Amino acid sequence: MPSRSQTVGVSPHVRDILVIGGGPAGAAAAIVAADAGARVTVFEKGLMGRDKICGDGLTPRAVKALGELGVELDDAHRIDGLRMVANDTVRQLDWPGIAPFPAHGAVWPRRRLDQRLMELAEKAGAELRWGHEAMPVVDGNRVVGVRANDTEWRADLVVVAAGAPGAVARMLGAERDPREPFGLAIRTYASSPRHAERYLEACLTLRDASGTPVPGYGWIFPAGDGTVNIGVGALSTMKGFKQLNLNRLQDSYRSLVQDDWELGEDLERPRAWRLPMSSIRRHGPGWVAVGDAAGLVNPMNGEGIDYGLESGMLASQLFLEDPVTVPVRYDRIIGERFDAFLRTGRRFSFLIGHPFLLRTGLRFAVGTQGIANITLQVMGNLVDSSTPGAGGWTMRTADRVLAAADPVLRATRAPA
Ligand SMILES: Cc1cc2nc3c(=O)[nH]c(=O)nc-3n(C[C@H](O)[C@H](O)[C@H](O)COP(=O)(O)OP(=O)(O)OC[C@H]3O[C@@H](n4cnc5c(N)ncnc54)[C@H](O)[C@@H]3O)c2cc1C
Repeated sequence: MPSRSQTVGVSPHVRDILVIGGGPAGAAAAIVAADAGARVTVFEKGLMGRDKICGDGLTPRAVKALGELGVELDDAHRIDGLRMVANDTVRQLDWPGIAPFPAHGAVWPRRRLDQRLMELAEKAGAELRWGHEAMPVVDGNRVVGVRANDTEWRADLVVVAAGAPGAVARMLGAERDPREPFGLAIRTYASSPRHAERYLEACLTLRDASGTPVPGYGWIFPAGDGTVNIGVGALSTMKGFKQLNLNRLQDSYRSLVQDDWELGEDLERPRAWRLPMSSIRRHGPGWVAVGDAAGLVNPMNGEGIDYGLESGMLASQLFLEDPVTVPVRYDRIIGERFDAFLRTGRRFSFLIGHPFLLRTGLRFAVGTQGIANITLQVMGNLVDSSTPGAGGWTMRTADRVLAAADPVLRATRAPA
């Protein structure tokens, strides 16, 4: 446990950790710290029960992270794998079950998942402040607390878990790296008699209104509650990205799958949000950024829940070991765990931003069941370059080839 000598009894608004943002990353940080007895307050600008625009898909990696937090999956819909659709090719793939990850994922609508995580944080002893928009308080070059609803709180550590960069990131210089790719995605819900299926479905061959292949995918994720989550996402590396109309792309994907899934009306207006895939800074004196705020989104599939959970847990574990050195150690360990993979993913996204390479690569990636299985392992971040077998070999080769090709791919990037 950290020393509290500096903080005990000074003011009612002094805590060990202050968390800005009540998504998976912030809640995970709060659960771990509060469970160990640290005094934690989470500020969430939304009201209790707030929703987050998301596909709601949990990979086996995310299921493992939830298990570490002690989260029961009783309210989630179990998923056994992924159906990849590329034009006429359909590959139904099971999650591989490569240790330490389970052989199943889940779909858990975010309104319910995030509420469950915040309830666990509260149960562990964290204080939740809903409807509180918090901004860091900086003294010299150090973040010493937050200001929210005209009140100031102080703490040894501020965990920035505010999601895709906004005002907090601007203040701390923790914005997305403008040279790196990012994603945009849109989703809604619809009823479907196939809502209880146990496979996610992803269509990898989307085209925009002018027929240009879109680096991204359309998805239907069955939620098991009468509804499916349906959406599309695209990477900023594509030609004409600035003109891409996500609503139109969503409509065209919907009409493609409408009959197969017997979709009902949209249950809400489709809504879009950003997927940050890089960050200029993710730590500084007195603060660390976790989850989307640290740009921890997998460029190969847009997954960010797992990275939010893992980075949130890590920040608090390091705090409990030694509160003074957290930011530097956090940055190093996050770098060791994720930077190589995310860098390869970003390079991959420049590769598939080229329509010809996207078409050719796709034909290869889904060409046989065996190769499609490896594609799933790599894209789900279920293997790394040290994993034995074909998945690890693919990762090592992709690292090397993409590193060599990267300057050319960036230099020849299609105009946005
Ligand atoms: C359309 C779409 C589909 C996606 N699908 C998937 C998927 O299927 N699987 C997956 O793993 N990932 C998916 N993602 C990514 C995933 O949603 C994010 O990576 C994930 O939500 C990150 O969690 P987080 O806790 O870092 O941030 P968030 O979930 O964004 O939470 C941040 C919270 O901080 C709050 N906040 C912001 N600023 C302040 C402030 N100043 N004060 C107080 N509160 C503040 C916000 O209200 C928000 O509640 C998708 C994203 C999009 C846009």
